[in-house]
Amino acid sequence: MSAPARRRSSKAPLWEPGLIPAPGGLLDWRDGKYFDRWQDLPCVLCGAPTPMRSHYGEPAHKVCPEEWITANSVEARLGRFASDVQPQRKRDDDHA
Ligand SMILES: [Zn+2]
Repeated sequence: MSAPARRRSSKAPLWEPGLIPAPGGLLDWRDGKYFDRWQDLPCVLCGAPTPMRSHYGEPAHKVCPEEWITANSVEARLGRFASDVQPQRKRDDDHA
């Protein structure tokens, strides 16, 4: 008896994706929806267990898609991995 997978069709995103980071950029996966607290699954990119999920429900450490996007910048534009939708920026004086 295996736990029911909550995976839907791989073509339907689980939620609306935001921007695709530029190669070398970072994903914004701060929202809790990227975190599956029920189980770790093997990352689709490195194979190590991770609780993180993409908007397609693919298990992936945040850093793995970031590296994948950098290495596959053309395919990345298709939107396999994307940042969270940003509400409106409240401040422009980001002194990072
Ligand atoms: Zn990984």
